[in-house]
Amino acid sequence: MTTAANLPKTYKAVSIPAPNGAWEIVTQELRAPAPDEVLIRVHASGICYSDHFAKLGGWPGMKFPCVTGHEVVGRVAGVGAGLSSKDREGRYKLGALVGVGWNGGYCGRCEPCRTGNAFMCKEGQVTGFTFDGGHAEYMYAPETAVVSIPEEALQKASYAELAPLLCGGITVFDAIRTAPWKPGDLCLVQGIGGLGHLGIQYASKLGLKVIAVSSGSSKKSLALSLGASEYIDASATDVVSYVKSLGGARLVLCTAPYSQSISNIIPAVGLNGTVTLVSAAVDGKIQVDNVVLNMSRAALRGWCCGCSPDTEQCVKFSTLSDVKSIVKEFPLEEYPNAYDAVMANKARFRNVIVFP
Ligand SMILES: [Zn+2]
Ligand SMILES: [Zn+2]
Repeated sequence: MTTAANLPKTYKAVSIPAPNGAWEIVTQELRAPAPDEVLIRVHASGICYSDHFAKLGGWPGMKFPCVTGHEVVGRVAGVGAGLSSKDREGRYKLGALVGVGWNGGYCGRCEPCRTGNAFMCKEGQVTGFTFDGGHAEYMYAPETAVVSIPEEALQKASYAELAPLLCGGITVFDAIRTAPWKPGDLCLVQGIGGLGHLGIQYASKLGLKVIAVSSGSSKKSLALSLGASEYIDASATDVVSYVKSLGGARLVLCTAPYSQSISNIIPAVGLNGTVTLVSAAVDGKIQVDNVVLNMSRAALRGWCCGCSPDTEQCVKFSTLSDVKSIVKEFPLEEYPNAYDAVMANKARFRNVIVFP
């Protein structure tokens, strides 16, 4: 085991004591990292809409009290005795820039792991649910959950601007790059919020022609500045008719969690296209006319966050192509207000807890 000199004996965290309880600022004892753990001094921790699953409780394997937070960027402050000397001197050396996302580690031996689906590992953990997450000055993460971040990332983005890439970013990045399309194909991005504003950037930087869709005109200039070729106000334009007149979309990325707006946009998918759902609709179930999918030979699929190796690729690409999240920073003590704003859809676009 190796730890940084002069570590404090205690650290502050925001914790929830029981399902539907109130968030509390607590002081916890700093302990030595377990053999497979990395101790991280947190610099930024993004608030994801999924934090509300922690507040509700009931996530498989979840324990209370719980420190949530799964968009974490910080620096290595200690490593467990089980990590190899190569790793201790390399990717997990003291002070190394690292992150932790939704996927809280994997075993590498079970069937999903061995078939390239480690996000479904049978022993998989979820950061901020099955172990304490990043809304804290320090956190402990299983080695396999830790994302190495090149120092040069900080030349393009702050700790806070990097943090949302660890869940929101990797989710839309992989949802786009794993779908079948070719450069120049048309991509519809539904919703310009925490996920959508990243989706527009990734899709355009990866080589798709992006049409951004939202309601009203207030987000038009932002959407265009993020890389969209066009903006459609869904409250004033028949999106499906217009996109069909262009030949249909090869990729429809649904990011706003509203069942009606997702249901409305699905028929804009074109021949051999893919509709990918990255958000969980919060107001009911989506509706799909399956004939629309049949006649376009289109696919409808969901997508969720990737594992640490996927996220390393996402962060590298983001640095290379200047993709970053638009954030508002909050101190730990203001977490409840920052969380409420995310739940009320008032964040523009990711609220992030920062630690000096
Ligand atoms: Zn998340
Ligand atoms: Zn596994």
